[in-house]
Amino acid sequence: MSKYATVVYGYRDRKGGKKMPLDFKAPCKHTFSANEIRTASECARKRYYASRDCLAIRANKPSRALLLGGAIHTCLQYYYTELDKKIKEVGLAKPSLEDCQDLLDTIPQLALEGYDLLDKDSQKIYDLVSEMYKEQVAVDLVSYEVISCELAFHMDDWPIADCMYHGFVDMVVKGREDGKIYFFEHKTCANFRPEIYDRFDIQLHIYAEYGKRYCNAEGCNFGGMILNQIKKAKTERGYGTKRDLISYNDKELEGFYIWLKQKTEAVISPDNHHSPCNNYMTCKMCEYAPICLKYGYEVPQTTEEIINSFNEVVGQEADGTEIIQPVYKYDPRPDEEEETKMATKLSFSELLKRAQKFEKIAIHTPTEEQAKTLLTELDEIGYRWANGEKLTTKTRYKVENESTCYNFEPNKKIMYSPLVYYQENNYTIIEFSDIDFKE
Ligand code: SF4
Repeated sequence: MSKYATVVYGYRDRKGGKKMPLDFKAPCKHTFSANEIRTASECARKRYYASRDCLAIRANKPSRALLLGGAIHTCLQYYYTELDKKIKEVGLAKPSLEDCQDLLDTIPQLALEGYDLLDKDSQKIYDLVSEMYKEQVAVDLVSYEVISCELAFHMDDWPIADCMYHGFVDMVVKGREDGKIYFFEHKTCANFRPEIYDRFDIQLHIYAEYGKRYCNAEGCNFGGMILNQIKKAKTERGYGTKRDLISYNDKELEGFYIWLKQKTEAVISPDNHHSPCNNYMTCKMCEYAPICLKYGYEVPQTTEEIINSFNEVVGQEADGTEIIQPVYKYDPRPDEEEETKMATKLSFSELLKRAQKFEKIAIHTPTEEQAKTLLTELDEIGYRWANGEKLTTKTRYKVENESTCYNFEPNKKIMYSPLVYYQENNYTIIEFSDIDFKE
């Protein structure tokens, strides 16, 4: 039997609002990602189990593919940003391939934390990619300048009121020749995806919409998405890559908008009864199958009810009666006060060290005063907004209010987003009050 645990603390009480431990103001009532709407299209019941707006249940062990994908993303981000930094330090506006290769050789190998979580097969692929892919990084940086990595974005009240779509762009680059902005999307896969899948890909369409908005705001042109697929292969390098430049015209995006609007409306409709899909192939592969086996067409109402209903036989009484115990006990997040007591303060210099190692960190500042203090401290040591402005010019606090968080971008850049983005994208959230600035 698969084991389940709630790991998305803080979301489950959002509807009732009584025990919500992190008092953030959600920008929209319903939050969606490409993954969530894909899941909803595949099976309404599956989305009901997984969505942060519903039960927010996840299998407690990340899949092999997820771990490998995460490791490769970290590795690529490291080499692209480090090489870009070197190119800027040297002051090369148009580096040659030789320049890029030479500078790349001066960058130390990435010591990846959590590496030991990968299985043997995944480790082999990771080793090959981290060593051999560097050639490709050099080739890419001849053509592009890195603008940012892991860019968090959200589009509020889109495609309909009260709904928000959000995501993370793996890498934003600017063409050195044409000055256009491109979004890189790295994908690790068992096999390259068939073209028809790319044609309808939901994530790429949502990102294209965001690309248009990003470029309108920045006053530049959007060149499209660069889909960078990486898979294991029996080649000398041990892996294969496939590159596609994907761009959509306005008519295509208009058609996608109609599709997405209909789907989103259906999901948030009071008539959505989260029906199981009853699709043999889908159910066979589904991580929620044990829950469906138990509940069938009945719609379980709470996460607690599901978690506590998974029991196992652990022994026998003398009279032969089975001794049954829960596999998991539903364990709500400790309240904030208790948590604060448990927390040990993190020094500011330790925080910066972690950020420099590309750890995904977001600092939550529930008050504007805290935001000002944090930004002033960072400004003093050379950090700037993504557009190069000094951090002391504004806090952006009025946009996200008490849910405002700040994260570190490469090249000493700072970005902001609401807490919910960072929670959904597995950032380590550090409360401002847990940082010790007096050193
Ligand atoms: S087992 Fe089937 S019906 Fe149940 S959530 Fe998974 S895909 Fe949907």
